[in-house]
Amino acid sequence: MMKPTLLSLLLIFLNACQSSKPPAKSTEKETQAIPGVSKAPAKKVIKGEKDRPNIVFIFSDDHSYEAVSAYGGRLSKVAPTPNLDRIAKEGIRFDNCFVTNALCGPSRAVIQTGKHSHLNGFMENEHRFDGNQQTFPKLLQKGGYQTAVIGKWHLGTDPQGYDFWNVLPGQGTYYAPDFRTPKGLVPGTPGVYVTEEVVNKSIEWLNNDRDKDKPFMLMVQHKAPHRFWLPPVHLLEEYVSKDYPEPDNLFDDYDGRGTPANTQDMTLRVTMDLALDNKMVPFRQDRMNEAQKKKWNEVYDKIRADVLKNRPQGDDLVRWKYQRYMADYLACIKSLDESVGTMLDYLDESGLAENTVVIYASDQGFFLGEHGWFDKRFMYEESLKTPLLVRWPGVAQAGTVNKQMVSNLDFAQTFLDLAGLDQPSDMQGKSLKPLFEGKQPKDWRESVYYHYYCFPEYHAVRRHDGVRNSRYKLMHFYDLDEWELFDLEKDPKEMKSVHADPKYADALKLMKGELAKLRKQYKVPPAPKLRKGETLFPPWREFGTFDVGLGNKGWISLFDGKSLKGWRKPFVSNPGEPISQIAQPKGIKVVNGEIHLSPNPQVFYLHTRDFTDFILELEAKMPKEGFDSGVGFRCVLPKGKNLPHGYQSEISDIRSGGIFDIGVGWMNPPEAQEEIDDFVKRTGTFLQPGKWNQIRVRCKGNHIKTWINGQLSSDIKDDKHKSGVIGLQHHSKEGVYRFRNLRIREI
Ligand code: CA
Repeated sequence: MMKPTLLSLLLIFLNACQSSKPPAKSTEKETQAIPGVSKAPAKKVIKGEKDRPNIVFIFSDDHSYEAVSAYGGRLSKVAPTPNLDRIAKEGIRFDNCFVTNALCGPSRAVIQTGKHSHLNGFMENEHRFDGNQQTFPKLLQKGGYQTAVIGKWHLGTDPQGYDFWNVLPGQGTYYAPDFRTPKGLVPGTPGVYVTEEVVNKSIEWLNNDRDKDKPFMLMVQHKAPHRFWLPPVHLLEEYVSKDYPEPDNLFDDYDGRGTPANTQDMTLRVTMDLALDNKMVPFRQDRMNEAQKKKWNEVYDKIRADVLKNRPQGDDLVRWKYQRYMADYLACIKSLDESVGTMLDYLDESGLAENTVVIYASDQGFFLGEHGWFDKRFMYEESLKTPLLVRWPGVAQAGTVNKQMVSNLDFAQTFLDLAGLDQPSDMQGKSLKPLFEGKQPKDWRESVYYHYYCFPEYHAVRRHDGVRNSRYKLMHFYDLDEWELFDLEKDPKEMKSVHADPKYADALKLMKGELAKLRKQYKVPPAPKLRKGETLFPPWREFGTFDVGLGNKGWISLFDGKSLKGWRKPFVSNPGEPISQIAQPKGIKVVNGEIHLSPNPQVFYLHTRDFTDFILELEAKMPKEGFDSGVGFRCVLPKGKNLPHGYQSEISDIRSGGIFDIGVGWMNPPEAQEEIDDFVKRTGTFLQPGKWNQIRVRCKGNHIKTWINGQLSSDIKDDKHKSGVIGLQHHSKEGVYRFRNLRIREI
């Protein structure tokens, strides 16, 4: 490792004393400008500078290597990334760069510290980074580097160790992004797009604000392509008009893998939200200027109109969502690639390129429909791997591919090593500098350790740790004590775990040994137990086809398809008459595995069992437009009364998914017709007369959410009704309302 000599430190000090000097382009000029230094050491300065190159670290969020065309994946032709490819072409493409924990904040904390999550303390996105601990930018600063971070930070606390910082608050916004600075919040400017702005601010710092006498380390950290994937307007039309190749496991059935893959909540089919993810309702555009809004609406209104007309279902809907997802995600990538081009051009034009190491990486990978998923978190390849491209003119051999196992754990030490500084012994990675230089270190690591901590959490991925070497991957979902072992040579897409296959007994033993070794080496403490009462609602698999996936585990059927067992006699009323319980059910009967409700008199039919926190799923069909009915939940029948108290989810096409407090009034939407219209428009009623519609209600504490055909239709908090029974209601004047597949699961 390169250590600064006394002389080079003196020269840095002398450099720092100079105030107005030309940019670092001409090393000769700089050496001439140093007073009192003889010619011979001046040559050393030139060498010394080469040994202390500038570093531009361009970092993105959730960028799958599949979406970098230099990697030659399935999307490389349809969505090329020529500027990223240029880094690879002029430098090195790393094919095996892994992260230690595939989540935004934790990955960033690992990079800052060179330590695994359990040691840097930032294990989950909700944590706040302890900026008082040792980080590589602080050490670079001490070693004479100028340091700056611009763009997404996502570590909660203020950046420390930076001469300049200008970061997005939290996740940031795509349009008119606000920035946090040491002086406070700077509100976003209408018309500005985040990816372009992060690079503009970076170039501004390089050009105007840095101390040009010092080498620098600049972190250009993008929000893109993080969910919800809002591309800039100039790319909308082009990207929605393309046809994106599907991964061949888009319709993965999760056979051959354990509980976690079978119970996650990150599928395109179910989890991907038509409203927000696929933009099928006009979302808040208050950060866009008028021209941007106009363009968005021009492009997306057409897609909305089209899908409302065709209303794809089942696999067709998954395919449609995939195309929508790729259009938005890859347009965000295209913009990112353009911004990389802007930066590379600036480095060329300013003369900085020659002595600057450019590194491109993402905080982790992302599923682009592989296994039917989006998001990350799992230790499966698409999430575990990040792209890593490195250009170092004159040192890294252009156009090379490196297959060593490297990690985001290595970045901190790499930066220090590039700067010729010591690497603290408590950092846990390895400097990649020798690999940049084309060396083949004999003692390079043969496996990497991974640990994901967030359960219960969004997307319901179980906690797990694991180890991957060049051939195998072992994952341990320790809360369930389930193992998965993949033979990556024979099964690179990880479709079948072989942990229980006797042929792999030796491999299993080897990998378990390796895992134990790495846990010890990295000082991994025993995993904390799940807090008492921590359970997670089950994922909502395929709405309307309840017999797939999860099976019936944990679900209670509310209707056996044959009888009205478990249901009370209906409560009826004729208009203007008091409600009373009738002796013989009239308005309700079982027909061909369905419950048929007919009005006149109006009926409210209650199930007998009480439920407090639950997910209720059912299918409903109405005969024609303008039909009005609902499903009651947390209903109780007060003594001496005939009308239940409780909530009702509206399942008509009139107020699609609104919630009513029975006997009291609307909670969402309100009564006013224009508010209702706005609500229906905003939530986008996908409720279809004459077809089976899938209804889901989730109650947990005071939090109530409803979905219609996979689309979130209500999301409210209310404390009034805490527990009660389920009810079915019919309050149209005529026609038969049909229900089937009623089931409930307590959570
Ligand atoms: Ca991320």
